Amino acid sequence: MEYKVEYDPTGPTIQRRFVEELMFDNYTLINWFYGRACERVLDASAHQSELYKKDRYVLLLIKKGETRKSNLDCPQCGIRKILYFSTLGNSITGYSGGSEFTCCDDARCKERLRAKAKETATASYALHRISFSVILSFRENHRQKIGGVLREIFEIPKSTPKKKVFDFFFSKP
Ligand SMILES: [Zn+2]
Repeated sequence: MEYKVEYDPTGPTIQRRFVEELMFDNYTLINWFYGRACERVLDASAHQSELYKKDRYVLLLIKKGETRKSNLDCPQCGIRKILYFSTLGNSITGYSGGSEFTCCDDARCKERLRAKAKETATASYALHRISFSVILSFRENHRQKIGGVLREIFEIPKSTPKKKVFDFFFSKP
């Protein structure tokens, strides 16, 4: 049975930031914590502690981050929901991307998006499956930018109330 987390308006936090916000704004930090949490949950003697509760929370949060779905329609076909986003650029010049540069799973839509990118820029083009862990494939100094792209894709701007961000991660399977 899946561990259930309960909504808490005051937490949990890492370095005074809500863990849900860190998914977008500092995935490096939450991923580091996740690595430590994976080790700690194997230690049965710690299972009653407060830290254990936070560990379980973050473990589930990271897992949920891999299965969140965007509600945006594919800008290429206007029919299906998006599953991919694209970036233009590289680790030196930086990247551009956003909700317009996305597509669904259809091969024609992927091709259309690629063709569009090729005609507007010479920078290198890449297509990524939408998930939070994709942030790790970018260098540290570009990760916040990609987190911002995910905020757009998932329609979770920085001003989103905490409860709504919580629901985004935890209210759907
Ligand atoms: Zn499409």
